[in-house]
Amino acid sequence: MGILEIGLSPVKNAGTIFYRSDQEINKQTTVSMKSYRRELWFETPARRAFINITGQVEKCLEESGIREGIIVVSAMHITSSVFINDDESGLHHDLEVWLEKLAPEKPHSQYRHNSFEDNADAHLKRSIMGREAVVAVSSGKLDFGPWEQIFYGEFDGKRRKRVLVKIIGE
Ligand code: ZN
Repeated sequence: MGILEIGLSPVKNAGTIFYRSDQEINKQTTVSMKSYRRELWFETPARRAFINITGQVEKCLEESGIREGIIVVSAMHITSSVFINDDESGLHHDLEVWLEKLAPEKPHSQYRHNSFEDNADAHLKRSIMGREAVVAVSSGKLDFGPWEQIFYGEFDGKRRKRVLVKIIGE
């Protein structure tokens, strides 16, 4: 039988590695774990928009006091998205053109959903761009790769809509 077994996780301790069970780790993390929840509100003047919300999410992280953990940022509506990409206007234009090719807004009659609504394209665009972003929190900061930023993607705006920010950690 090897040293590594399923259910055992390596733990670094002063230069040596030893192993303890997941159960022990869970016991330890639940004692000091903090959680934070906040809703961010948006009302875009246009039907479609991309908004960089990284600063607002960083403010939430600061407020939470959490230094090590996970942050989930999710769109609470099925016609908007939260995603991570570059804050570059050319790319945002390209995304808009690409999404319009995949799921054109008009004619509304092309969609079955539109027999009672006019936003089928927005549901499809949200499905492509995703519901949430998950980011690791390390040393009190969003642990991003180069150029990563968090965006709210609106596909059926001109009304008040929400994004949930949930942070867990210690
Ligand atoms: Zn709809």
